[in-house]
Amino acid sequence: MEDLATNVTKTNRPAKRFLFAARRHVWRPLWRPLALSMLDLTSNRNRTRDFLGTRANFIQDRIRVLALVFAAIVLLWTMLDYLTIQSTEIVARLAVLRILCAALYVVLAGYGTKLHDLPRARLKLASLVILPCLFYIATRFVLENADAVGALMLYTFFPFVVVVQLAIFPLPLLEGLALMIPAFVTLVVVEAQFASLMSLSFLGDLSLLVLLACLALWASMSELQMLLRLYRQATRDPLTGLFNRGALMERMQLEVGRAQQQHGYKLCVLLFDLDKFKRINDDYGHLAGDAVLKTFAGILEQPLRHSDLAGRYGGEEFLAVLPRTDTAEAERMAEKIRNLCATTPVTTRDGNQVHVTTSVGVARLRRDESAEALLLRVDESLYRAKETGRDRVVLAA
Ligand code: GH3
Ligand code: MG
Ligand code: MG
Repeated sequence: MEDLATNVTKTNRPAKRFLFAARRHVWRPLWRPLALSMLDLTSNRNRTRDFLGTRANFIQDRIRVLALVFAAIVLLWTMLDYLTIQSTEIVARLAVLRILCAALYVVLAGYGTKLHDLPRARLKLASLVILPCLFYIATRFVLENADAVGALMLYTFFPFVVVVQLAIFPLPLLEGLALMIPAFVTLVVVEAQFASLMSLSFLGDLSLLVLLACLALWASMSELQMLLRLYRQATRDPLTGLFNRGALMERMQLEVGRAQQQHGYKLCVLLFDLDKFKRINDDYGHLAGDAVLKTFAGILEQPLRHSDLAGRYGGEEFLAVLPRTDTAEAERMAEKIRNLCATTPVTTRDGNQVHVTTSVGVARLRRDESAEALLLRVDESLYRAKETGRDRVVLAA
C-alpha cells in the first residue's frame, strides 16, 4: 500500500491524489470493520471460532450487569408512575408488569452464566432487546385510556433505549442490524395502534431512531474491531499467525481437562522442531529463516481440523494439540506434515530454494496425566527423533 502511495504522489495528478486520499481516509476505515465483521460471521476457521468464544464471554459479562441495572431501574420507576398517574388502579397494573419485567431481567442475568458460547450469547442478547419492547407495548395498552400524558412521555423513549444499549456490545454488522429490528417494529406497532403512521411526530421519531441505530452500529463494530485486534495481539505469534506459547498452553490445559473428563483421555500432541535451522539462517540470512517459519506454519495448519490447536512453542519449535485423536491417527498426521515439509521448498527473496525437514515427537495423554507431564514426554520423543537421524516421527513411550 505504501508503494502505491509513492507512485500516486509521483504522478502528482490531483484526481488520483484525491482518489487515493478518499480510499485511505474514508473507504478503508469504513470497509475494514465491515470486512472483519463479515469474516467473523461467516468464517468457521479455528482461530475465528476461538475468537467467537472470547466475544461470547465478553457479551455475556455485559448482559449480566446491564440486565441487573435494568431490573433495578424498572422497579424504581414505579415511583415516577405514582407521581405522574392519577389512577391508583393503573399504577398497580403497571407495578405488576414492572415486577414481571424485573424478574425476567434477573433470570436473564443469572441464566447460563457458566456456559459461554456464541449461540447462547446471541439468545440472551435477543432477549435483552425483546423484553423491553414487549414491556413497552404492554404498558402502552395499560396507559391507553389513562389521563397520563406526563407518564406517556416517560415511556415513549423505550425503543431508543433498546437501540442505544446495543452500542456497548461488540457486534458485527448483520448481528447488530438483526438485533435492532424489534425496536423498529415496536415503534411502528405502537404508533399504528395509538397514533398515526402519517404524522410528523412519527417521522421525527423514526428519523431519530435511524440516527441512533447508525451510531450504535458504528460503536458496536468499532468495539468488535478493537476486541479482535487486542485478541490477536494477545494470543498470536506475529510472524506465523499461529497461537503464541502462552495462549496455546492455556487452551491445551482446557483440552487436557476436557479429554480427562469427557473423552476417555483421547488426546495427542505433536511437537515439531525444524532440523538444522540455524544453518538456514547462517547460509541464507534471517529473512529467509523467517520465510521458512511462515511456510512451515502454513504446512502445519493444512491437515488440522477445526478442533485442533496449533502454535509456535519456541523459536523453530511448533506444537499441535489434537483432541479426540488416537495414537495411530496422530502418527499419520505427523507423518503427513513431516512429508509435506520435506517436499515443499521455500523460495527466498534472492531466488534461492531452501529445503527444510522437521523432526516430530508424538505422545498420547495418559489417564490422570497433566499437560506438563505430557509435554515432558513428547519433548523426550522429539529428542530421540533428533538423536536417531532427524526428519522422522518418534512415538513417546
Ligand atoms: P536441530 O536440528 O538440532 O534442531 O538444530 P537447529 O539448528 O535447528 O537448532 P538450534 O537450537 O541450534 O537453532 C535454532 C535456531 O533457530 C537458532 C535461532 O537463531 C533460530 N531462530 C529462532 N527463532 C527464530 C526466528 O524467529 N527467526 C529466525 N530466522 N530464526 C530463528
Ligand atoms: Mg529447537
Ligand atoms: Mg531445530
